Amino acid sequence: MKFVYEFAEGNKDLADLLGGKGANLAEMTNLGLPVPAGFTITTQACKQYLASGVRPAGLDDEIGAHLSTLEEAMGRRLGDPHDPLLVSVRSGAAISMPGMMETVLNVGLGDASVAGLAAQAGGDERFAWDSYRRLIQMFGKTVCDVPGEEFEDALDAAKAAKGVRDDVDLDAADLRELVGAFQAVFAKHTGHEFPQDPREQLDLAVEAVFRSWNAKRAVLYRRQERIPEDLGTAVSVVAMVFGNLGADSGTGVAFTRDPGTGEPGIYGDYLANAQGEDVVAGIRNTVPLEDLERLDPDSYAELLRIMATLEGHYRDLCDIEFTIERGKLWMLQTRVGKRTAAAAFTIAAHLVDEEMIDMDEAVRRVTGAQLAQLMFPRFDLSDEPQPVTRAVGASPGAASGEVVFTAEHAVQRAEAGHRVILVRRETNPDDLPGMIAARGILTSRGGKTSHAAVVARGMGKTCVCGADEITVGEREFTVAGHTIAEGDVISVDGTTGRVYLGEVPVRDSEVVQYFEGDLDPANANDPLVSAVHRIMTHADERRRLLVRTNADTAADAARARRFGAQGIGLCRTEHMFLGDRRELVEKLILATTDADRQAALAALQPLQRDDFLALLREMNGLPVTVRLIDPPLHEFLPALEDLAVHVAVARERGERATRQEQMLAAVRRMHEQNPMLGLRGVRLGLVVPGLFAMQVRAIAEAAVALAAEGGTPRPEIMVPLVGAVQELETVRAEAEKILAEVVGDSGVPVLIGTMIEVPRAALTAGQIAEAAEFFSFGTNDLTQMGWGFSRDDVEGAFFWRYLELGIFGISPFESLDRDGVGRMVRIASDEGRAARPDLKLGVCGEHGGDPDSVHFFHEAGLDYVSCSPFRVPVARLEAGRAAV
Ligand code: ADP
Ligand code: MG
Ligand code: MG
Repeated sequence: MKFVYEFAEGNKDLADLLGGKGANLAEMTNLGLPVPAGFTITTQACKQYLASGVRPAGLDDEIGAHLSTLEEAMGRRLGDPHDPLLVSVRSGAAISMPGMMETVLNVGLGDASVAGLAAQAGGDERFAWDSYRRLIQMFGKTVCDVPGEEFEDALDAAKAAKGVRDDVDLDAADLRELVGAFQAVFAKHTGHEFPQDPREQLDLAVEAVFRSWNAKRAVLYRRQERIPEDLGTAVSVVAMVFGNLGADSGTGVAFTRDPGTGEPGIYGDYLANAQGEDVVAGIRNTVPLEDLERLDPDSYAELLRIMATLEGHYRDLCDIEFTIERGKLWMLQTRVGKRTAAAAFTIAAHLVDEEMIDMDEAVRRVTGAQLAQLMFPRFDLSDEPQPVTRAVGASPGAASGEVVFTAEHAVQRAEAGHRVILVRRETNPDDLPGMIAARGILTSRGGKTSHAAVVARGMGKTCVCGADEITVGEREFTVAGHTIAEGDVISVDGTTGRVYLGEVPVRDSEVVQYFEGDLDPANANDPLVSAVHRIMTHADERRRLLVRTNADTAADAARARRFGAQGIGLCRTEHMFLGDRRELVEKLILATTDADRQAALAALQPLQRDDFLALLREMNGLPVTVRLIDPPLHEFLPALEDLAVHVAVARERGERATRQEQMLAAVRRMHEQNPMLGLRGVRLGLVVPGLFAMQVRAIAEAAVALAAEGGTPRPEIMVPLVGAVQELETVRAEAEKILAEVVGDSGVPVLIGTMIEVPRAALTAGQIAEAAEFFSFGTNDLTQMGWGFSRDDVEGAFFWRYLELGIFGISPFESLDRDGVGRMVRIASDEGRAARPDLKLGVCGEHGGDPDSVHFFHEAGLDYVSCSPFRVPVARLEAGRAAV
């Protein structure tokens, strides 16, 4: 197996093997862009190393051969005392995990070669010693697990001894002493000296990068981002170029468009006289990239040319890392850049206008998850709250919450049910758990490309960064004369970068206003709304799946219709039995005679009819699927414990509580060990005489009433929890009688169908289809019964462990389990359609609004998905994406 590729041997499509970084370095090399020479060790090598714990056989020789080629190209040998070649050893997985893994710079340097490096740099000893101390620090932390604070303490001590604040104020002699101190720290923690053999440094650094795949924060990030555990990282070995050689050198990051809004322009940060991570870490404040035009016009012009080349080549927003060494520009990284949800839509629409992509591709370039983010609420500023400071809006959204200052506190408070805003000077990968737990993030340092900004954008979390007017302490921060202590509430606006004291109310986002019909998509001042409109329109044209909504009230139905719903896929009737109707339901349950029961049902019937009429009216002309009552009846009665206490107290006082006692007896009678598998759904309809009949009659009467008003009712009666065709046949026979009586030959079509949510129903779908005009997959119960997972119990109890072990990558209640539950869906669809070719197929579980599941339902040939009103646009978009 070949483990090492020259940059010239790779290309951008080899990311699985070379990692994103290695593949794109190869692509840039082959585009003729100025990339330092280097090679990439494959993810295969990493996987073998992680499995066995040793470098795979043959790897060392291959690295040796490629190192020789590199040395020849550079005209220098690794660590040569007189004229050393130094390299960086860089992590890079197929899917970008910014800052999660390790990179070691300046590898190859040792006691013997510091002088040689200084000579190379024109006698710059300060630079050479600074490079060396960075190597010991990075190598110590990354390769040998030396605690980073120890190095930082030594650095602080050196600055204090000299009475200076900045690293740059230390001179060559100071840094030389610091190297001694760092070497002592290294030896104390590892029990051996800092390795002087350059090749040994290289090999150990490569192993450390391999291992960083399993670093805690990397594992957490992958879980959060649903990146598979088994990809492994590639390792790129790149000849060092130096941005820390004086004022004519520097390092920066750039985006070819604004990753926040998607607007074209020059976006980036630059830091003169700095190396690598200095920019991203927010250690010193950077200058905007435009300033480079003044500092180094030639490099700036070349950078713009390269950015245009990359955009044209990748046909997308690219982000870039570059370094200028004494006026010479070097490209160190590029990739298709992360962006906010808004930018994703705007960029896709712009690229269509620039004729780089077509509308199908634009639909592919955005996701339902991004659209969902754009539907988050915004701050309502009509009371004109005054921001206490303004900074960089790094990741949009509106978040209010209590201030916390450490990731640990963020996690603790969030677990206790509080909304928190994490406030830090800057974040680093160790803050990840806190960033996940927080509603929003506020930092005092760093720009759009800082760790906080990049990670928050990736997570879709509100973030404001670079708020340099605030001073962050241990348990409080100060700004403009205010002191904000831990626990005080602030509000951060990640779109505008504004920070407010106290809680600011929220309102609908622009995109929601557009879906509501309150914003004109033709308004050119609103590029985002226009982009969303164009992309949604195209998705609607392309999709085959219809999108319905789950709605129980006319208000929900109306909103869903504005959001584009093409009918109701699930109306749950249970809520219609609550509130002030509870008493009627209690009467029904407690009835001991037929007459009592009939009286209770007769009282419920007109109420139900009015409910259905309102829904049918709202969905005039579109199908409305009404599910007959599903949950066990005792859910409508008070809890057993409460009743028992009540009755006991009454008895104690010598009072009579006949009604309560009756009810207690009924609850005891109906008590089930496992109610989810008990007397519910169709079973209830078969056992409680008249219950389903009452509902069917109410639906039929509502339909007839709407037709009489001149409307077009399209009701569909859905029987829940069917497992055998005989159950459905029994309900159907009774329902048909009622329909014949109420609807007669008025011409109003009323379909009768069933949910497929019991595994047996899926496996006998051919028989069941004989009695059903439609199937609607209840994938919540189908998952619950298919896996044998009690939905209300297992998620909190042990799913974390299953996720940790990789038994599944995501809860099967969140995203459909294609292999198991999905297979039942396919079997039932195929066998159902074989028995009845015009059988309508839909899905009404939570999965109907989950992007990945929507793609599955498209592939499985369903007719529609149904989801909550707010997910309707998401399902429309994903159904379109599944079709292009
Ligand atoms: P990450 O994936 O965390 O960005 P990188 O491997 O890109 O890690 O490297 C960290 C920093 O070091 C980046 O700023 C990068 O530009 C810089 N860097 C990496 N290799 C070199 C090199 N050969 N010469 C100069 N700077 C480098
Ligand atoms: Mg990088
Ligand atoms: Mg169900």
